[in-house]
Parts: sequence; structure tokens; C-alpha cells
Amino acid sequence: MEEFPVKVSEAVCLGASLALSGICYCLYKKSRTTLDKLEDAPHFTIDGKLKDILKVTPGACLQYAVIEGAVQPVGEPLTSSFQKEIFGVLQKVLLREHRLVWNSLSRTWTDSERVLHQRVTAVPFVLVGSDDTAVRVLCHLQASGVHMETTHEKFHPVNYGFSDIIGQYLSGEKLKGQLETEEMLKVGATLTGVGELILDTDGTLNLRPPSNGSEYFLSITDFDTLLGEQESTAGWWKGLAIASAVAGAGVLLWLGRRYYNQLKVHWQREKERREFDRLRAENPRARAPVAGHEAIEDEEEEHLENACVICLTQPRNCILLECGHVCCCYSCYQALPQPRCPICRQSISRVVPLYHV
Ligand SMILES: [Zn+2]
Ligand SMILES: [Zn+2]
Repeated sequence: MEEFPVKVSEAVCLGASLALSGICYCLYKKSRTTLDKLEDAPHFTIDGKLKDILKVTPGACLQYAVIEGAVQPVGEPLTSSFQKEIFGVLQKVLLREHRLVWNSLSRTWTDSERVLHQRVTAVPFVLVGSDDTAVRVLCHLQASGVHMETTHEKFHPVNYGFSDIIGQYLSGEKLKGQLETEEMLKVGATLTGVGELILDTDGTLNLRPPSNGSEYFLSITDFDTLLGEQESTAGWWKGLAIASAVAGAGVLLWLGRRYYNQLKVHWQREKERREFDRLRAENPRARAPVAGHEAIEDEEEEHLENACVICLTQPRNCILLECGHVCCCYSCYQALPQPRCPICRQSISRVVPLYHV
């Protein structure tokens, strides 16, 4: 049986869907682990008792804990660059350029943006609880979660003259304008922190990224919302992993179906050949067996004018029905890409051996 050819496009589809499924599954596992750790993390209120709890904890450290408190700067707070009455501890100013680029494939203008300028400023800050107890937040840049809110957003559009518009259509790029945004973590905002809680030797409480590799969170939403966000992320990765696995299984099924069809054609040919050989064996007047190469070579000259029109070596030994042409040997008939007579192109319904008297 000839080998089973897999098309490049099929191999690419199969490989891509399996790889995508694997990647999505890994990301799902990762977010699921994060979610489990979040669910198991103990909650603590920031008050005088927190220090006592940490004092009796081995290493004066809680590996993964949830706390919630109001943001207060350690020193002078930052002032918003756009609204003087807003104070914060983290500030991020972004200037983005928006332009429309002509996409010749979809024949539409698509939006594209580019960061022109970015500035992040921070001052040390603490989370304050119901009494004066404060927990200092360290390494906030490593934290996930939304912990800043937009305090300023302004779009500066570009005004064009007539010649500019002509130029844009010729170059395929249109500058829309610049978007200026400012995000801040405001003083007094309630912040949920999930991380490693440690009591320093100088008696200060600190929240820092967990040393056991768990994810560090700082979020202005409450803990349940944070949990919900993680749940939906895990759900998305799970859905994507399943969808790509189904796509991969679909490609495999398709390949299996094609292989089965090819096998069926092969079995059909084998059956036909056995029938052909049986008919030849039953009739002693039939010519030498199809595969009898040596016997044919001996009588080569005699057969030359009677040679198969395809291979020009073996004698014509079969009748193609219904047209009745005697033009090829049985091996060549079986090798025809389609069951059509090579002389008159009529479709072949049956083949019978040729008998000489
Ligand atoms: Zn032939
Ligand atoms: Zn014919």
C-alpha cells in the first residue's frame, strides 16, 4: 500500500491547534493555581493585633495573606499634574499617538497607537487600618491588579489643511491626534493587598512580593472582585484550551476519514485483482500471469506490437468495459488515477481478462 500523504496545510493546522491547546492549558493551570492560593489565603485586619500575630508566627512572616487598608504616603504625597486638588502615591502619565493606517488587504483604515512618552512616579506609602497601625507596601511595580484610577484624559486632535489630506491618502497614513492620560493611586483610596506579610526587626509591618513564587496583588477593587476577575481569566484560558483541542481533534478526524477512504480504494483494487486472477486461472487460454515479468521478456519481440500503450513492456491482457478497448495491461489499469479508458475516456465499470485462442 502506498504511503499516506499528509498535506502541509493539514500538518500546520494540526500542529498549531495542538500547540495552542497546550499553551492555553498551561496558562489555565497557572491561573487556577493562583486562584486556589487566593482562596486559601488568610485575611487579616490591619490593627494592633496584627503585630502580635506575626510575633508568634515562625520567622515573623505570613507567606500569603490578604489585607485591606487606606493608602497614606510616608512623606510628601504626589500632586496630580492636571488637577491640583488630587494627591496620590503613584502616578503614571502617558502620551499616546493615534493614527489611522490604510490596510490594503481589508481595504479599510485601521487604528494604530504608539506610546510617545511615559512617566511613572512613586513615593513610599503605607496601608492604614482602623487604628494607627500601618503596613508599608514594597515593590508595588511587581504587583498585578488594577491599583490606579484615571485622573485625567484628554485627546488633542490634529487639524489639517487640504494639502495634508491629499498627502495622507497618498502615503496611506493619517495622524488622528495624541491622547494624554494620567493615572494615580490616590491618597485615602482603599487598597487590597495580597502578598507576604512580614514584621521587620525594627517593628514595622511590610507587605512584599511572596518569596514562594505566588502572585503579588494590589487592587483598588475589593477582594471578591479580585477573585472574580481571576476566575474569569481562568475560565477564558480553559475555554480556549478546549476550543483548540476540539479543533485539533477535528483535523485528526478529517485525516482519519481520508486515510479510511484511501484504504477502501486499496481494498477494492485488491478485490478486483483477485477476481481478475481467478478468471485467468479458470481459463487456460489466458495469457501469462500479470506479474510474470521473466516469461514476458522471453517473448518480448513477439509481444512488441501487442504491448500495453502505457508501459510499452507488458502485453495487453485486459478488456475495459463498457467501451471494450484492449489497450493496456492489468497493472497499468490499476495504476490509472481515475477509472477511465486511456483511449476513449469513457468510464470503466468492469475489467475482464483477454483470452487468446
Ligand atoms: Zn502496462
Ligand atoms: Zn475505451
